[in-house]
Amino acid sequence: MIEVRGYSAPNAHSPLAPFKFERREPGPRDVQIEILYCGICHSDLHQTRNDWSNSLYPMVPGHEIVGRVVRVGAEVRKLKAGDLAGVGCMVDSCRQCSACKEHMEQYCEQVATWTYNSKERGSEQLTFGGYSEQIVVDEHFVVSIPATVDLKGVAPLLCAGITTYSPLRHWHVGAGQKVGVIGLGGLGHMGVKFAKALGAKVVMITTSPEKGKDARRLGADEVLVSRDAAAMAQHAASFDFLLNTIPVAHDVNPYLALLKRDKAMVLVGLLTPLEPPLQGGNLIFGRKSLSGSAIGGMEETQEMIDFCAKHNIVSDVEMVPIQAVNAAYERLVKNDVKYRFVIDMKSLKDDPGA
Ligand code: NAP
Ligand code: ZN
Ligand code: ZN
Repeated sequence: MIEVRGYSAPNAHSPLAPFKFERREPGPRDVQIEILYCGICHSDLHQTRNDWSNSLYPMVPGHEIVGRVVRVGAEVRKLKAGDLAGVGCMVDSCRQCSACKEHMEQYCEQVATWTYNSKERGSEQLTFGGYSEQIVVDEHFVVSIPATVDLKGVAPLLCAGITTYSPLRHWHVGAGQKVGVIGLGGLGHMGVKFAKALGAKVVMITTSPEKGKDARRLGADEVLVSRDAAAMAQHAASFDFLLNTIPVAHDVNPYLALLKRDKAMVLVGLLTPLEPPLQGGNLIFGRKSLSGSAIGGMEETQEMIDFCAKHNIVSDVEMVPIQAVNAAYERLVKNDVKYRFVIDMKSLKDDPGA
């Protein structure tokens, strides 16, 4: 076994604290990665605090992982020691169902094995995520990262990146379309960058007027403040696609009014019930769709990484030491991040107390 240091949440109410645990020695198809950076996703906050009522403790969060390969098993073909590699939200799936066979492991009918807050397949062993020194993952769930990119800004691509790229591609967003990205946070800022790179006219839809300047710098052509009813009315029935990243219960009805006939709003942020309720008429009159989307499959994640390398896209990050993770969570709750916290894992290496 490999001894690993990390940070874990012991339960839903206590802060994260240093935690020692073991990972398996790499098997024939495994890749052992020394973690260099790990992004802090709002999902880490939801899950450490048991917002989705499915949390398993102790929990080592983190599913925006980049690092250097230190060792590979005998059958690994994709990567070798010294390569840069990334791990996102999944570390395994059944590999046999139709979703897995069609490269959508995130929709595995037997449920994917999540990078943390999950159990290894056929075992009671908890999975532990990227707020740690090392990870061992089957090569199928590892992506290759080109050596030319700014690695700090790549970490968030493994979740925030793929979660926004995948629906934009699935709903064929491109030139000639007006696309709204709702919520300028970790996911939203990547959504703006991708929608722009795909050729769409991009409108940042935000509750925070002070983020307008940043939104334009990130690629938005226009900024729409959702609390401004008159501005919302001016944009009524004008959008070809809406990507909604809001992490909490909110009224989706005013956003549906922004869609043209036959167009869709896709939820990626809201995993809990709609509150207030959805008015059926807001879908019926205009044949509109409300849909959802989860991360992306492994093949598409590699495609997204390559797309980013080609278009020079990375996340805008604020680096934090792992000792500041609880403070970073508090700032995330207060909507005070531009636009993704990334943990520099050197801070763990250098900490004798961890
Ligand atoms: P984040 O960085 O906290 O950003 C969320 C943004 O939503 C905020 O910056 C804010 O933008 C807006 N917002 C926050 N509270 C709001 C409210 N009460 N009403 C309206 N807007 C509000 O979060 P994130 O990391 O991007 O994650 C967003 C959500 O996606 C989380 O729920 C996360 O769990 C989920 N997620 C889902 C997947 C998936 O596969 N579907 C993957 C990753 C994450 P403005 O200030 O611009 O309004
Ligand atoms: Zn995430
Ligand atoms: Zn499957």
